[in-house]
Amino acid sequence: MLPPDPLKQFRYCPQCGARLASVAAPPLRCGDCGWKFYPHPELGVNVVVFLEGKVVLIRRGIEPFKGCWALPGGFVAYGEEPTVAAVREVREETGLDIAVEALVTATLVRDDPRALLLVPAYLGRVIGGTLSAGDDAAEVQAFSVDELPPIRPAYHREQLDAALMLRSSEAGTGAADE
Ligand SMILES: [Zn+2]
Repeated sequence: MLPPDPLKQFRYCPQCGARLASVAAPPLRCGDCGWKFYPHPELGVNVVVFLEGKVVLIRRGIEPFKGCWALPGGFVAYGEEPTVAAVREVREETGLDIAVEALVTATLVRDDPRALLLVPAYLGRVIGGTLSAGDDAAEVQAFSVDELPPIRPAYHREQLDAALMLRSSEAGTGAADE
């Protein structure tokens, strides 16, 4: 299911109340007062967390993808640093405290039913806490890399794979003195 078209969300100008003509491409523009609307993706964040070499996944407790295994993550609040949102979401959903280690990738998600999303994925290192499901997560579990369950939505699996590649390439660049 595709997200709703943001250009169709306003029929009247939110600034002056004039009727708006529909447009096929941004910006949506008010002919009376000059108000302009350029839609942007919503900003989310996902985190690939390794706990004793295993990948921490949550089972989603809410739609969309309720009941599916997914990366911990969520929406970035307005004005919030994405890395701060990453720490907050992992804490809320998994009970773990993390330090953000690296940006893995960023995905433009075109098929989320809620909105067009831009979702960076970070690599997180556990620095405290105890594994315990909370907030939007019905369940939380650490899986070894060769026993991962099906992960939905599909881009979470792609972000996880990108993180695994990043991690293995870093392991091969002389970090042997740890
Ligand atoms: Zn107007």
